[in-house]
Amino acid sequence: MFFATCCLMWSVGCLGCYRPSVVPPAVSIGGPIVPASPLPTSPPLTLPSPQVPDVSPVTPITRDNPWKPDAALREWKYIVLHHTASNSGDVESIHESHLKNKDKNGNPWLGIGYHFVIGNGSGMTDGAIEPTFRWKQQMQGAHAGVADYNQHGIGIVLVGNFEDGSPSPAQLVSVKRLVRVLSREYEIETLRIIGHGDVKPTECPGTHFPLSEIRGSVAVLDEDGLR
Ligand SMILES: [Zn+2]
Repeated sequence: MFFATCCLMWSVGCLGCYRPSVVPPAVSIGGPIVPASPLPTSPPLTLPSPQVPDVSPVTPITRDNPWKPDAALREWKYIVLHHTASNSGDVESIHESHLKNKDKNGNPWLGIGYHFVIGNGSGMTDGAIEPTFRWKQQMQGAHAGVADYNQHGIGIVLVGNFEDGSPSPAQLVSVKRLVRVLSREYEIETLRIIGHGDVKPTECPGTHFPLSEIRGSVAVLDEDGLR
């Protein structure tokens, strides 16, 4: 009798001990946590970030055209680049000078023959781009000396003499921007971006004028599809 009771208590105590220690570990050890560690997804984080600064500085420049004229658009086929062959100048001074010119029939010019003037810091702010009345009214130019290029060529002049020196860095930035915007907007292909000397025997726009660099800046944008 005493022996049987003792034996029963021992076995109950044993069961009570076993239950808490066996059941919880069987659940918590259940291993679904282990395969949930696919770590190799971190490297792609470095790829998108370097592309952002490459694109963003260019986009606002190429997408923006602050020179859209109010007048009905003329058919433009060329961009003709010039220098003033002078150390200083601005729209007004060139306008006054060109008023004294006469065409083949002896008629005086209407005024400045170019569509845009880019200053060099002497007379106009360095790198400033100023459209003339010929651009605003979409009139033919009086700058090329050849009818087709006057009729359909956008005349851009940079103040300076590029037989003696190069355009200023600010002028170079501006002429690239202007040529890029105009060629994109009016679908003027790169080979039709020319110097005055390409259509008439003249030194203009000067031996130091970086025409190929300007064309190149437009061509790069062509290939990137950013125009
Ligand atoms: Zn010229």
